[in-house]
Amino acid sequence: MLSSIKIGYGWDSHEFKTGVPLKIGGVPIDHPQGLAGHSDGDVLLHAVTDALLGAIGAPDIGTIFPPSDSQWKGADSAVFLAEALKRVESAGYQVGNIDSTLILASPKIGPHAANIRKSLAKLVNVPENCLGLKAKTPEGMGTDNAAIAHAVVLLQKV
Ligand code: MG
Repeated sequence: MLSSIKIGYGWDSHEFKTGVPLKIGGVPIDHPQGLAGHSDGDVLLHAVTDALLGAIGAPDIGTIFPPSDSQWKGADSAVFLAEALKRVESAGYQVGNIDSTLILASPKIGPHAANIRKSLAKLVNVPENCLGLKAKTPEGMGTDNAAIAHAVVLLQKV
């Protein structure tokens, strides 16, 4: 029997690097540095993708899309998210809501928060009121050169 609800949790971090475009939650952000990674480095989409995969007991993002595979070099992380959503659907679930937290020193997320929520809601296909996004600065953590994202998802049996 399928449980009526399932919870998933994902976490990711990427290092800032000069000369790399910055993209968070599918939104390009004008900033002198971007997030280095094998794909487009979208730390928020990676955390949400892992939360979705974790909720249904699927392998994690790095197992499904190995960084050693050149086809994912510079990949749009929306592709990873779409695959996780496809697996969620195949497992008989739909997304109830998602909550997330970004931790980064700069850029300030405030001016971009509405766009990021809108983008993520569209990518996941949920109403915006089912999508939480908080941004924190890494006080005392010594991670000013990184962006960190946490995400939890709740899935409902269809
Ligand atoms: Mg990642």
